[in-house]
Amino acid sequence: MNIIETEISTIGNGKIKLIDFNVANIAYILFTSGSTGVPKGVPISVSNLDAFLDAFFQLGYHLNENDRFLQMFDLTFDLSIMSYMAPLCIGACVYTVPSEGIKYMQVYKLLEQYDLTFTLMVPSIITHLRQYFDEIRLDKLRYSLFCGEALYEDVVLEWSKCVPNALVENVYGPTEATIFCTRYKINSNGSNKQLNGILCIGAPMKNVGVAIINDNLQFSAPFEKGELCLSGSQVTSGYWKNDLKNAEAFFEKEGIRYYKTGDLCFMDGEGDVFYSGRVDFQVKIQGFRVELGEIEFHARKFLESAAVVAVATENSQNIWQIYLFVEGDLTHFEELQNYLKLHLPVYMVPSKITGVKMFPLNTNGKIDRKALIHIFNSHVS
Ligand code: AMP
Repeated sequence: MNIIETEISTIGNGKIKLIDFNVANIAYILFTSGSTGVPKGVPISVSNLDAFLDAFFQLGYHLNENDRFLQMFDLTFDLSIMSYMAPLCIGACVYTVPSEGIKYMQVYKLLEQYDLTFTLMVPSIITHLRQYFDEIRLDKLRYSLFCGEALYEDVVLEWSKCVPNALVENVYGPTEATIFCTRYKINSNGSNKQLNGILCIGAPMKNVGVAIINDNLQFSAPFEKGELCLSGSQVTSGYWKNDLKNAEAFFEKEGIRYYKTGDLCFMDGEGDVFYSGRVDFQVKIQGFRVELGEIEFHARKFLESAAVVAVATENSQNIWQIYLFVEGDLTHFEELQNYLKLHLPVYMVPSKITGVKMFPLNTNGKIDRKALIHIFNSHVS
């Protein structure tokens, strides 16, 4: 059966474009949260998936049927698809995390008990395992990949010591570009490309193109920050029946169709991409452009790498305020506040610092900033 649904959508500068959803060719549709509260369907075609798998198997990993892969994700998170598809393609084993219990402990048990050789994890797993690093040694792990959110260099370098035989990599990608599409190999000796302590997301995989676009939709110069845009055969043909979002998120330039990721990045002279936070984490305070990642960087430095999150929200007088959350049991933050005053311009110093015993995580294991903003709002109202 070959059902073709045709959508009419406005792309970029008002041109009308037809999007053919060949339903028979859709491998899966995943729903990602939308800023309006209505989830957006991301159809990934068989050829998108094929492009990912083709690129994945050309990353230079030496994998075979004796490998043992971890699958730690909910099936609604696209990282799960790599975690079971790649091993199934080569006849290797997949080890899944039980639904009950604490996720990071379950992951560790599997790694140890079954001598897993390949893992793709979200960074929060090692943030939580960090307290046990002294006791962890996983000699059999050969590939340790991280994806899903900013990966801090300090925790990864410590993790490298627990997995001395593993190639550790930071991979990056939105659901719209099929699982992941850039990669950066981490040097366990510490000479890594990073920005504010966040590891570089590296260069695009085989079937993807990257461009950094500034506010005027012009290509940015090297080291100039802008929005990361992706092109190529891993990129979805468009959101499911959502003309408005398609017009916002996709555009064409010089004959190439791009997806706007919403990630603020720059590229160095060697073509490596640096992640600097979400475009919407950049706020204007007293007319100054503030990146919340910079505040987090200094706070982590002072706290010797405790997990921190800076959020900004507008109060009832339309004044932006910055609030800093620190994970753990600390309660006295005067010294941190003073340190930040010394190292940051006054408009970047958080107006309040609060301790949270354990950061809320969403079902994908990423820090749930929306839940933190909710805490913020309940504190200020
Ligand atoms: P999702 O579509 O749910 O997979 O989320 C994609 C978003 O997660 C990206 O647009 C980034 O904001 C973030 N992300 C994924 N991988 C990384 C990474 N390695 N470093 C920083 N952010 C990442």
